[in-house]
Amino acid sequence: NVQIKRDIDPKDEYTLEEEVGRGKFGIVYRCTEKSTGLSLAAKYVSCPKKEDRRNVEREIDIMRMLQHPRLIQIYDAFENGKVMCVILELIEGGELFERVIDDDFILTEKACTVFMRQICEGINFIHKNRILHLDMKPENILCLTKTGNRIKIIDFGLARKFDPDKKLQVLFGTPEFVAPEVVNFDAIGYGTDMWSIGVICYVLLSGLSPFMGHTDVETMANVTISKYDFDDEAFQNISENAKDFIRKLLVKDLNARMTSKEALSHPWLAKSAIFSDQALSTSKLKRYVIKRRWIKAVNTIIALKRMGAKIDTDMFHIMPI
Ligand code: ATP
Repeated sequence: NVQIKRDIDPKDEYTLEEEVGRGKFGIVYRCTEKSTGLSLAAKYVSCPKKEDRRNVEREIDIMRMLQHPRLIQIYDAFENGKVMCVILELIEGGELFERVIDDDFILTEKACTVFMRQICEGINFIHKNRILHLDMKPENILCLTKTGNRIKIIDFGLARKFDPDKKLQVLFGTPEFVAPEVVNFDAIGYGTDMWSIGVICYVLLSGLSPFMGHTDVETMANVTISKYDFDDEAFQNISENAKDFIRKLLVKDLNARMTSKEALSHPWLAKSAIFSDQALSTSKLKRYVIKRRWIKAVNTIIALKRMGAKIDTDMFHIMPI
């Protein structure tokens, strides 16, 4: 049961090593616990305001409640001045989408079901604990190792405890993956995560993003209309079961969407399901991942500039967007 250690520098107990990732809020480093030699990850979040600290405390509180093999596990936590540091288990396999576009990886529909099943198992556990993740997107699904096919869901920074009898509304998320009820600021629920899982599944199978517009506003307008199709040639060799799985998730009405439990018993995810072992083309998915990498890099630069950093922007002359 992890308690937040106050006014202790994490470096007293952990040796910090290289950066392994960063997001909007945190920078994550590999680290080693001095007393045991264990390799772990340290997520540093700067908390200049009281509210920032409360957000990290909420994230820690929720992670503590969620002990499951498909979910990132918390190991230790510190509050040191205006910085909070969460020590997490280290996940070494990188982001799922980066893995599947690797030249050594053969992406088949069966492989997609293996990943989607694990995502649904993780979300099912979260929902059983009356929690909503609310930030399901490809960056938050990591592979446990560089070669295996086990995944873990990370980043509970936006997660909320949920009481189905009380109305909960939120105003955050990533436009491409958020459900219509988030865009419309209506009541959210378990189905809100299931929508995002539907979008992830659509992208994984095709490399296309079902609601992506030229701007965030356009994307959100597409989400509220909730119209999409499987017309692209990328879906030509995809099974009817897969399309049915997505169709049952990308439903505008939150309460009509498939639950995580129903998803786990959908025929597409049945362990006995038989698929052609034909490899799916990942050229569109490669383009998609590269574009997201650039968007992320640009956002990092914008955030750094806002904080007053001097950055040489010459490198952006070659930006391929
Ligand atoms: P976001 O901008 O998505 O809200 P965040 O600031 O809350 O992100 P995380 O998503 O928790 O931060 O982490 C940022 C990145 O760091 C992840 O996308 C991932 O690549 C890497 N990362 C996070 N946790 C771990 C971990 N335990 N082991 C290895 N890498 C990790």
